[in-house]
Amino acid sequence: MTRVFNFSAGPAALPQEVLEQIRDEMVDWHGQGMSVMEMSHRGKTFVGIAQQAEADLRELLAIPASYKVLFLQAGATAQFAAVPYNLTVSSSVADYVNTGAWSKKAIGEARRYCKVNVAADAAAANYSTVPARAEWQLTPGAAYVHYTPNETIGGVEFPFIPDVGDVPLVADFSSTILSRPLDVSRFGVIYAGAQKNIGPAGLVVVIVREDLLGRARPETPTVFDWKAMAADGSMLNTPATFSWYVAGLVFQWIKRQGGLAAMEKLNRAKAEKLYGAIDSSGFYANPVAKHCRSWMNVPFTLPNADLDKPFLGGAKNAGLVALEGHRSVGGMRASIYNAMPLAGVDALVQYMNEFQRKHG
Ligand code: PMP
Repeated sequence: MTRVFNFSAGPAALPQEVLEQIRDEMVDWHGQGMSVMEMSHRGKTFVGIAQQAEADLRELLAIPASYKVLFLQAGATAQFAAVPYNLTVSSSVADYVNTGAWSKKAIGEARRYCKVNVAADAAAANYSTVPARAEWQLTPGAAYVHYTPNETIGGVEFPFIPDVGDVPLVADFSSTILSRPLDVSRFGVIYAGAQKNIGPAGLVVVIVREDLLGRARPETPTVFDWKAMAADGSMLNTPATFSWYVAGLVFQWIKRQGGLAAMEKLNRAKAEKLYGAIDSSGFYANPVAKHCRSWMNVPFTLPNADLDKPFLGGAKNAGLVALEGHRSVGGMRASIYNAMPLAGVDALVQYMNEFQRKHG
């Protein structure tokens, strides 16, 4: 068996322990004589698996009892629409902060349903920083304020949770959820596609404060209606059962590592090591302001684009894969989510140093 260090931005590496557990449980889950994939979502066994996953996620994030946790489908992109469906009427104004590719997509989708005020925009800074809260031009009485705590492509991460008063704060945590402890009580809605720090694709987790349920527009597709989904334990229709099960195994793995405090320590160490190597190299470069560099997605460039191909080829030979930057920006990107061990970052830094010695 040859496992590589997989730096993919998503679907991303899963903890090897979890993969081995899936393998061991695949054909006969705990003496049930069948795989989780083959179970009725309404049967006692799967309902137990689903409830345990929710309980573990609640414990990890210390989610207050006044929040519902939903395990839905159609990815974070579906929530770009579900957020306005559930929280606006067509004359509402929603405030959005634009920090890059993913906030832009959220903004574009919201514009189809309500009025969007871009309250702060990092475009002028070429998305290399996050706008300070003092610069945000919020709309009094806005339906909500939306931001993207971590931009997966740009590698920009908010070092603070913005205070927006009584207006519900809505956040796309797809690429940074569970990377460190989080004060959920500061948010109205948190959503996150699973395929980075949670589990396999096919699942999006939504954490929504109860008082925000029941505001959905009448035309909201039922599967996008948080209240309807909450009322049915996310089982209004068939959920992504296998992804939900694997997410539960990942939550248990995180608990075994020591929870989110341990994840924070590991992720800080990995990020410091990799950014340190980039900054001290005089060869590699990362354009993001230091105070808001992502712990999860580390884009970097080489001195000239002609070196990209040899860099990627050599990396692959060294067992370091999926380092190519997003097709929209080029360069390199190392995604170092929870499942990436420190040894993976060590191996990458060692390879980067060797490559520089040869080509620098
Ligand atoms: N938001 C962010 C921050 C993302 O990184 C992604 C996916 N890379 C998405 C939204 C879209 O997620 P999905 O493909 O699950 O719809």
